[in-house]
Amino acid sequence: MILFKKSEDLRVWLADRGKQVGKTGFVPTMGALHEGHIRLIEACRAVSDLCICSIFINPAQFNDPRDFAKYPVSIEKDLEMLAKAGTDLVFLPSVEEIYPPRENGLETYDLGGLATILEGKFRPGHFQGVCQVMSRLLKIIMPDDLFMGQKDFQQCLVVKKLISLLKIPVGFHTVPTVRESDGLAQSSRNRRLTPGQRKNAVAISRALYDIRDKFVSGDVGAVVESAREKLEEAQFKIDYISIARATDLQPILKWDGKEKAAALIAAFQGEVRLIDNMLLN
Ligand code: AMP
Repeated sequence: MILFKKSEDLRVWLADRGKQVGKTGFVPTMGALHEGHIRLIEACRAVSDLCICSIFINPAQFNDPRDFAKYPVSIEKDLEMLAKAGTDLVFLPSVEEIYPPRENGLETYDLGGLATILEGKFRPGHFQGVCQVMSRLLKIIMPDDLFMGQKDFQQCLVVKKLISLLKIPVGFHTVPTVRESDGLAQSSRNRRLTPGQRKNAVAISRALYDIRDKFVSGDVGAVVESAREKLEEAQFKIDYISIARATDLQPILKWDGKEKAAALIAAFQGEVRLIDNMLLN
């Protein structure tokens, strides 16, 4: 496994050697890796000749500086996991490498309604930050295929939109969410939960499974209310519970059971903000 810290070195290497090896796949991460990330690496390896992973905690996408400061870091263990999973190349840039101080101002992208609902509403600026880092990483690496997790469903839609705005020729792959045995979606943030919070945290996936398995069609209101009760019983402070069109995340009020739909939840367990979602059909 080769490690690069400088964009220019990576660019030169890819231009020189990388492209000769065939198809390049890319898995962007913020480190603190778990099985979910490794599943992305496996999906990448399955269709790529060269599997590239980046580890970069992107300050631009944290609307809350405390969240950024507390983001878990475990580089050595991450590199071990990546090597074991068969990653060929890791890009580990510094903040200055991605956001050179001499650059004036960050670009903004027209993400339409996606920017202002759900995560966009509760984390203002978050998706602009995601796009800023993703556009830079994609321009440096220029992969044939990009792999991201359904766990961050809205992020997948945002990045697909970015790719179409920038007309970047890359195949987008959404990889299903990897869960703990009790259903909790794996997340780097789970590490910050106390044992008691960890037990409560399962209420999110339970609520989502409940909606997916019992909701066939009709008014959304009662379904959301029942999920709200379950989450509140488990001490969650809720940002949103939404049943939405899977294509653009616009809310559905009455579901015909046919339109592609997803249930999405964001809620705090103590200070830790967790998100999860499930496709309903
Ligand atoms: P992060 O390091 O949190 O920025 O995540 C890097 C990538 O891993 C993103 O595309 C996430 O959607 C994906 N990811 C995070 N958690 C999971 C999970 N439990 N299952 C599958 N993919 C995940």
